[in-house]
Amino acid sequence: MRTAKHFGAMALLSAALLLGGSYTMAAAADAQKKEELSESYRGSQRNNVEYQKIAPFKVFDNLYYVGPGYVSVWLLSTPQGAILLDTAEEPYVDHVIDSIQKVGFKMSDIEYIVLSHGHLDHIGGAAKIQQLSGARVVALEEDWVLIDRVGSSPGRNNTPPPAMPKRDMVVKEGDTLSLGGETLTFYKHPGHTPGSLTATFTVFDNGAPHKAILFGGPGPRNGVVGGQQFVESVDRVAQIPDIDVHVQIHSWLASYPYTNGGILEREIKLKARKPGEPHPFVSAADWKQWLVEARAGGVKNLEMEKAKAAAAK
Ligand SMILES: [Zn+2]
Repeated sequence: MRTAKHFGAMALLSAALLLGGSYTMAAAADAQKKEELSESYRGSQRNNVEYQKIAPFKVFDNLYYVGPGYVSVWLLSTPQGAILLDTAEEPYVDHVIDSIQKVGFKMSDIEYIVLSHGHLDHIGGAAKIQQLSGARVVALEEDWVLIDRVGSSPGRNNTPPPAMPKRDMVVKEGDTLSLGGETLTFYKHPGHTPGSLTATFTVFDNGAPHKAILFGGPGPRNGVVGGQQFVESVDRVAQIPDIDVHVQIHSWLASYPYTNGGILEREIKLKARKPGEPHPFVSAADWKQWLVEARAGGVKNLEMEKAKAAAAK
């Protein structure tokens, strides 16, 4: 192993020499590339707990951001109660609870908790928030299996298994959920997990309706099978008509960064918005362009996974 590593370093060094120093120049340019604000929450500041505790903010008449910086928690309000989309994880669950209250809601206002997919960063607060609110927890069958598994395996850094909600509402493709005049439509878009959930719903900007989408599995996992499913899911997501708001489950995605900025870049624009100006979270073009990039990345990922699987045979 040592020899191989040593050889690798030598090869790299000779390559740099051969290229007349362009290797080092490229490396320097890379190091200088400025980290975007949203990116910093998943990059250099990912373990900075205080930095992650950003102030909650209102994005639409009926949609609020109440998560930490790196993973989204959205509160969709209706006249008959609220729907929470994802829950973050410890040590940020109290911050989420605080944020919900800061934007003007009581925990008992939350009627439903909809989980985008069964990974800990999205579901880690569900049990506590359900306990405080009495809300029903919604996920697809395949990801309830994941949630059960997360609840019976060691947590991060070998801590005891995190508390997970008991299997509650199981939804499937085409199901809807209505509350206070709002209707969510659910889709199954596997690839990131077997039961990644997409939801469409309506948000309002000063009363004007926009069709919003929360795509619950925006990046491939799980080798060739997940990679193939992801490309197919992106193609199916792209067929959902009339979307002009992308409700992102992370402020930033490393693999397919959001076209024209992540959540926090848009929030800055939203704060500076003057009456009559377009809403920075409303853009059908950005959504479509991001899907094009995610598909191209998904295809590339699938080729890589196939090559890996072939090499392992
Ligand atoms: Zn995930």
